[in-house]
Amino acid sequence: MSRPDSAVSIPLSTPGASAEAEGPGRSRQEVDFWMNCVGAPLLLMERQTLTVRRANRNAAVLFGVGLEPFGPCPVEDLVGSEAAMMLGQIWNVAPVGVPGEPFLIRAVVQEQERMLMVQVTKLAVEDEILRLFTFMDAPPQGSVTLAGWQENVISLLNWLPFGFEIASADDQIQFANSTFKELFGYSQDDIANIEDWWRLVYPDPDYRAFARAQWYSSIAAARAENREMTPFDLEVATASGARRTIQFRHRTIGNFHVNLYIDVTRERAYAQELRVLADTDPLTGAMNRRRFFEEADRLHAQGGGHDMPIAFLMLDIDHFKSINDRHGHGVGDLVLIEFTERCRALLQADDCFGRMGGEEFAVVLRRPDQRAVADVAERIRAAVEDQPFCTARLPVSVSVGAAIGERGESVGSIISRADNALYDVKKAGRNRVIIR
Ligand code: GH3
Ligand code: MG
Ligand code: MG
Repeated sequence: MSRPDSAVSIPLSTPGASAEAEGPGRSRQEVDFWMNCVGAPLLLMERQTLTVRRANRNAAVLFGVGLEPFGPCPVEDLVGSEAAMMLGQIWNVAPVGVPGEPFLIRAVVQEQERMLMVQVTKLAVEDEILRLFTFMDAPPQGSVTLAGWQENVISLLNWLPFGFEIASADDQIQFANSTFKELFGYSQDDIANIEDWWRLVYPDPDYRAFARAQWYSSIAAARAENREMTPFDLEVATASGARRTIQFRHRTIGNFHVNLYIDVTRERAYAQELRVLADTDPLTGAMNRRRFFEEADRLHAQGGGHDMPIAFLMLDIDHFKSINDRHGHGVGDLVLIEFTERCRALLQADDCFGRMGGEEFAVVLRRPDQRAVADVAERIRAAVEDQPFCTARLPVSVSVGAAIGERGESVGSIISRADNALYDVKKAGRNRVIIR
């Protein structure tokens, strides 16, 4: 037999080897001796077939076969048919003389499924190529390419752009990444237990109670359904005293509670700014028409079936065009701003005031009866007439048409009646109140 150039040759002769012949120049004891020097399970296989000729002690333990007598047996008996096929393929690509790449195979060992790492070595021993297979238990669910990644897992967690924290079942913090520390400014020592956490992050007792209720109810719902908690936002206090809006995410994994803390302060502030811009009339700061009707619908729906009807007041400044014509558009603007301020001063916080367009405004009131509605309408009318406007001391007046909703009446219908009332005021000479 010719010897491949790259093969490593090991002379298998040990002092005192027995005379039991195993081919030229070797004995069974010699082969066993060398194979047992290997610290991992090792199989020696026949040249042409996947038949195991030898197994070292570690392999005998792994595969549950007695060493003596270990006659030739198909490798399929030791690792199952799927793994045996894989071993055949691995053998085909293995280099000669150097250990091959480790491969991961799914084997059935002693009737149990097991992931094994296998390394094949082709070794020329006295002109004969031997096929040596060494085995190792693979890390659970791991793969050869990810071997060793766990060593870097802490750096990986510290690199995440959000706070990451693992707590044990009794709520003791086991790990918090560096982003968590940067976000809150507290170290793990500051928050040795969960009570410290509540106290530091939610200094206001009322808000703390609210935050706690939010946490526990959301977590209970998620655990009951074995899913991620529905994320929610809370306002927290950091160590430097700054306020931040944090989105909380939670999932129980095994025996651990995994919490994510995402800083959404900027996003929420932008969203709020945009919402205000979208809802507000830029000149007067009053609700714009779209937002006003949304709010009117909401108040109407709230009052549905109750004894508190909603009332609409439609307000239209009298002869406003002539204010613009005489004093300029800028002064007209100032009148609109001052008009808004005077109306607001007379309204309650939950009354809804909006600019419909031009010099037309509207109010939704929730008042018990016609007298209460008439009182508000008349006070607005008088507040406009009684004091001149702006530095130019302009006399201004407003016409008010009002309607009080009846049981089951739609928003559109109440507004339409208020509009008709306003039309009647204009016809009757302006600067007065008519309630339908
Ligand atoms: P009436 O008593 O019948 O209500 O008469 P009026 O002049 O108040 O009503 P009209 O609808 O004829 O005129 C409204 C004017 O309001 C016309 C428009 O140029 C002016 N206007 C609309 N929007 C603005 C604004 O934002 N600023 C200013 N300065 N004027 C505005
Ligand atoms: Mg008008
Ligand atoms: Mg007008």
